[in-house]
Amino acid sequence: MGNLRFDGVVAASRKRPLEVIAPVERPSEYFAKYVFNRRKMYKYLPADVYEQLIEVIDHGARLDRSIANAVADGMKQWAMEHGVTHYTHWFQPLTEGTAEKHDAFVEHDGKGGMIEEFSGKLLMQQEPDASSFPSGGIRNTFEARGYSAWDPTSPVFIMDDTLCIPTIFISYTGEALDYKAPLLRALHAVNVAATDVCHYFNPEVQSVHANLGWEQEYFLVDEDLYFARPDLVLTGRTLMGHSSAKNQQMDDHYFGTIPERVQAFMKDLEIQALELGIPCKTRHNEVAPGQFELAPIFEECNLAVDHNMLLMSLMKKVAHKHGFRVLLHEKPFDGINGSGKHNNWSLSTDNGILLYKSGKTPQDNLRFVVFIVETLMAVYKHNGLLKASVMSATNDHRLGANEAPPAIISSFLGKQLSDLLDHIEKADKKDLFKLEGKKGMELDIPEIPELMIDNTDRNRTSPFAFTGNRFEFRAVGSEANCASAMIVLNTAVAEALTSFKQRVDALIAKGEEKNSAILDIIREDIKTSAPIHFDGNGYSDEWKAEAARRGLDCEASCPVCFDRYLDKDSIKMFESEGVMKENELAARNEVKWETYTKKIQIEARVMGDLSMNHIIPVATHYQSQLAKNVEAMIDIFGREEGKELTSRNQKLIREIAERTQKIETGVEELVNARKVANKIADARAKAVAYHDTVATKMEEIRYQVDHLEMIVSDELWTLPKYRELLFIR
Ligand code: ADP
Ligand code: MG
Repeated sequence: MGNLRFDGVVAASRKRPLEVIAPVERPSEYFAKYVFNRRKMYKYLPADVYEQLIEVIDHGARLDRSIANAVADGMKQWAMEHGVTHYTHWFQPLTEGTAEKHDAFVEHDGKGGMIEEFSGKLLMQQEPDASSFPSGGIRNTFEARGYSAWDPTSPVFIMDDTLCIPTIFISYTGEALDYKAPLLRALHAVNVAATDVCHYFNPEVQSVHANLGWEQEYFLVDEDLYFARPDLVLTGRTLMGHSSAKNQQMDDHYFGTIPERVQAFMKDLEIQALELGIPCKTRHNEVAPGQFELAPIFEECNLAVDHNMLLMSLMKKVAHKHGFRVLLHEKPFDGINGSGKHNNWSLSTDNGILLYKSGKTPQDNLRFVVFIVETLMAVYKHNGLLKASVMSATNDHRLGANEAPPAIISSFLGKQLSDLLDHIEKADKKDLFKLEGKKGMELDIPEIPELMIDNTDRNRTSPFAFTGNRFEFRAVGSEANCASAMIVLNTAVAEALTSFKQRVDALIAKGEEKNSAILDIIREDIKTSAPIHFDGNGYSDEWKAEAARRGLDCEASCPVCFDRYLDKDSIKMFESEGVMKENELAARNEVKWETYTKKIQIEARVMGDLSMNHIIPVATHYQSQLAKNVEAMIDIFGREEGKELTSRNQKLIREIAERTQKIETGVEELVNARKVANKIADARAKAVAYHDTVATKMEEIRYQVDHLEMIVSDELWTLPKYRELLFIR
């Protein structure tokens, strides 16, 4: 890149090994090697214990404490065969990451000796020090302690020398302090509601589960360049940096050849992920230089969420080994694409029916239409809340920028499905039936062509798109815990299905035939939910105006979006579906606002430090060099000619003076804005102040810094530039 400043640094990271020692077995043989899955349960547990545990996993039976010891014994034996010495409850506090506290298997026997110990009690419940995790004041108002409890539906696994036990994390009075507890409740709610609705069509269905297939986008940067950028280290994104002359405009990175070092990283990551039972399938370059994606095959939602959390930790570890840092921030670089995490979501039954897949018979298709329309009802009714579920200080940079879904939730259905719904809504009702001899009235819903399965006219601008046999929620951020979006989506769909069932049953009770009653309600709901359906360009300004006319939530301020969690309709939804109570919602919002404030606060501090310690000193140093040159030229050529010959340098000297002055003033204003905001006690008002007065100031400073970067000598500039960070050599 013609810049020698960081060549030594990059050379060092490039020296890391390219070799990945692949296991000699085939992937199918090492898949889930470090997971205590059914095969291992069968091998390591007594038969009756195994049966009981499977009953718990498959049908949500209560885990009997009497078998817990036997389960723990089996696990311990398996783990110790893999050299495991410690165990930990592994949970997902409201900090976005995962938490673990390792304890050794050993217990002191009180006689000066040690024994390997892991009891059922330790497996099932622990008391991590809850006070170190955000709780939004739940612990002050309620009970001081929190505990973690095993979630047997997500299998135990081994990371390094530690047995990791997926757990929920709740307060002693039962309030959720994590993502998993409400997710499990939401999944239960949608199971109950969807199973009930399925019974109109398939009485044999016993349960319905939600599926999630996430697509994780990320950036890689050379680790040593990363450490030369304090903003990346402390905030996860570049707070300044002029665009590289070339970035993604040639469209040459997407699906391009994967650089060799990256390929080695990916291979290593995949092997380790497969060993942990994460069913990796797809890997490719993404749109921006330095950006990549990994996607596994979809799984049951709770497990998929755990696997995503696990993968994100794993990525960081493996990246380090290859001399990279992985950036999961939604917008690490200005001016090029950010990273998201599409959430492919669907429902399916215990007997294998995909509820968002059109069928062959009119009955199957009616069921399909019911699930589509009630999902639209859910998304329509709670569009603001769904947006709130994916909003964060970091994803804020991506939503609404014309690359990712806009900050307005709408749903794309595609032409065929739109036409079908249109037909069902507008046709004369008798035309939706035909007479079928003895059987009486039969449904006459047009068959949906197979073609729809390969729905090719996918609309990339839609935040919630139907893609053939699932919906794809695209607004989720790359660093987010998918559970946040999945809690809201599954609960909202549960509520819509429950209401649908109640209304259909009311008509049936009045003597209406079942299919006819279903059609009546569906026709009504297609009309009601129409405003959420939008197949056009979600990036256009016309859509913003149109969406406002339709009454969709157009709020763009992140902290204000969080208000949606405390709307009457949201509280009613969460409470009636048994997912969260009002006090839990209020507490979690406190955490969201506090987190927002802290993130912007840290960014503002780093911005101030970098401006004062890196940018201004370097710029004035260069300015002095220029001034010396002007003086020397005047000495040589005399005043008149010397001035004329150095006119360019004089212009630069002036420009540097003006810009550094603006930066200095900007930083002062930034500090003052922070001081004012810090005095606000109320968490929401403080976050709003940070959004409105602090975050905006940073943009003004950045503008000046980026212009200085273009004129100051490359040799002096201390921060690695975009063109150095973005292209992996
Ligand atoms: P894209 O073209 O959007 O990248 P992919 O074929 O790569 O689509 O699939 C993206 C994700 O969607 C994968 O995780 C895949 O397993 C998942 N997926 C496919 N079908 C379903 C479904 N019915 N329900 C949920 N996820 C699904
Ligand atoms: Mg996708």
